[in-house]
Amino acid sequence: MADIIQLLPDNIANQIAAGEVIQRPASVVKEMMENAIDAGATEIKVIIKDAGKTLVQIIDNGKGMSPTDARMSFERHATSKIRVVEDLFSIRTMGFRGEALASIAAIARVELVTKRAEDKTATHIVIEGSEVKLQDQVQGVNGTNISVKNLFYNVPARRKFLKSDPVELKHINQEFLNIAIAHPDIKFNLHHNGNELYRLYDGNLKARLVNIFGKNYNEKIIPVAQESSDFKINGFIGKAESAKRTKGEQYFFVNNRYIKSPYLNHAVRLAYDQLILPDSHPFYVLMIDINPSRIDINVHPTKTEIKFDEERLLYNFLKVAIKQALGQYVLPELDFGSNVNFGHDKDRFNPLITQKANPTFNKEMSQLQKDNFKNWELMYKDMSNEKLDMETQPTTLESKIQYFDDASNQEVLSNRDPFQMHGRYIISQIRSGLIIIDQSAAHERIIYEKNLKLLEDKVPSIQKELFAVTVELENSKALILKDMLPYFKRYGFEIESFGGNTFIINGLPTNLELSTSLEVFIDELIDTYSDNRELQLGIEQNIARSIAVSASIRSGKILDVREMKQLINQLFACQDPYMSPSGKKCIVSIDLEEINRKFKN
Ligand code: ADP
Ligand code: MG
Repeated sequence: MADIIQLLPDNIANQIAAGEVIQRPASVVKEMMENAIDAGATEIKVIIKDAGKTLVQIIDNGKGMSPTDARMSFERHATSKIRVVEDLFSIRTMGFRGEALASIAAIARVELVTKRAEDKTATHIVIEGSEVKLQDQVQGVNGTNISVKNLFYNVPARRKFLKSDPVELKHINQEFLNIAIAHPDIKFNLHHNGNELYRLYDGNLKARLVNIFGKNYNEKIIPVAQESSDFKINGFIGKAESAKRTKGEQYFFVNNRYIKSPYLNHAVRLAYDQLILPDSHPFYVLMIDINPSRIDINVHPTKTEIKFDEERLLYNFLKVAIKQALGQYVLPELDFGSNVNFGHDKDRFNPLITQKANPTFNKEMSQLQKDNFKNWELMYKDMSNEKLDMETQPTTLESKIQYFDDASNQEVLSNRDPFQMHGRYIISQIRSGLIIIDQSAAHERIIYEKNLKLLEDKVPSIQKELFAVTVELENSKALILKDMLPYFKRYGFEIESFGGNTFIINGLPTNLELSTSLEVFIDELIDTYSDNRELQLGIEQNIARSIAVSASIRSGKILDVREMKQLINQLFACQDPYMSPSGKKCIVSIDLEEINRKFKN
């Protein structure tokens, strides 16, 4: 039998490799921006058309390429960045796989114009599906200008797999920021379909963050700086009161490269501890420097995950660095009229302490209070009350309120007061046992259905009076909010554009009770809306949902009995009380039988 193994032709091999490196237009943006930085550019322009599906163009003023290098750069494993094996273990340069350009050229139409300062003319190359269509010398400026057109034109399956323009643009935006934040000394520009999304000036990190996220970040962020023989951490974290429910702006950079690390995120979160609510997320931009020989960045093809030798050490070091930064800047502020109880004896064992009004921590639960639930004495007291209740439980239903469980079966809640557990769950006795309600998910459902009703009724909802509040947003967020503006009125919001990225909020729905500042609320609303776009809901549906998510009460909010009862009532009046619009369970029920069983030996 004849031999059957054949080497794949280059263009096919490249297409396969491309699948790993280039997943979407944003990957092209990332790889080419990194190349521009490696080339020493001090100014990088990114021009996008149709979320990168039609065009991704990067113009840099870096060192350029010689005619031979320009041609070579499209070969697989062609790189100027690795000379010796040891280089593999260094991540000082942005990329070192020598695969990006070859991959991109295999799945798009690429046009390159590049010129070194020492050359008179620029090299011009057109390459399509790995095939060089043209190479000549032209007039040109120093630096490199690469256009990637019609990405995946020859891989229809991949092209079909691309998401809608807003979603792809969001990914591009993210990659752009990942790089722009790490290089505040470089000027950047991002254009999409003729709109300038970012114009970033060169400066220090703080100036870059303010440039990107808006002027109000000047007051919102706290510097972090900590150094040991193993690590160095620099950057900024958000003050506790600017924490959001959506995971928005959280950035780790290791040796100037953006990475994702749930593990390190956990360390940061832990450092904030009870300063922020359990389900909220702080802002952070943290630059971590580690000796490159101690990390392995090549473990993941998209290179955003890293392995560390001493992860545990770094974890603790990071936690301490954040705690110190917070301690210096946040605690003194909280002390003014703060209701957060840091352990004054008088109130120590009273978990039901009523708290003084405070804009950010009103009624929220401090760690101390949570700990108090463990207090034996109180538990004992509660239990004896509960026992009494059970024994004297009335057998008639007169005094009970009825709720519909489902169409066929009427479940009955007792008139016994509901009980809140861990500032998060509401426990209520029902005839067959008990139900546990997730207060945040339940409230989300309630607001969502209210919003849907507002949509149906076509009657404008009532607004509450408000002193006009202005908010300034990051560029990309301002653009999203502008799209949403015409739809807000229906839900009782009065928001207007005030030119540029500034908006004025003149009115809010009557029953909207915010647990954060209006600014944080709007920011979360936009994040949620933007995330939801992947679900391809209609704009109105999406806004209805996003408002519900952002305006719902949070875990950690202490509710009084009246509030709990109201929440339960409203939840059971919903058409679908069991699931929140974002897919969280609202109710879990536990049968008495199940409980009885647990007590049997
Ligand atoms: P890598 O970046 O891993 O080396 P790439 O495929 O991204 O691989 O790039 C191949 C080579 O092309 C680079 O090593 C570099 O020499 C050259 N190159 C790519 N982009 C630029 C640029 N914008 N300016 C100068 N040289 C570049
Ligand atoms: Mg590269």
